[in-house]
Amino acid sequence: MPDPTGRWITESSWQCPVCGNVNSYDRERCANCDASVRPSNEEPIRPVDPLDVVGRGKRRGDDDDAEKPSSSATG
Ligand SMILES: [Zn+2]
Repeated sequence: MPDPTGRWITESSWQCPVCGNVNSYDRERCANCDASVRPSNEEPIRPVDPLDVVGRGKRRGDDDDAEKPSSSATG
């Protein structure tokens, strides 16, 4: 079974599908877990979908402060 292949998230970095670590272009394997390989140059760049990230951790607890006052004065 071949190692899983990462995906390009920018033109100079790719993301490991196993641990989610972002590796630089010159990395042939994931620097963190070493379990995935760099995608080929033919692979299209697929930036991380913001909705994907936002979707995580939401819907936990009903009383999240959605309407926060825009005052960031501290102290
Ligand atoms: Zn990894």
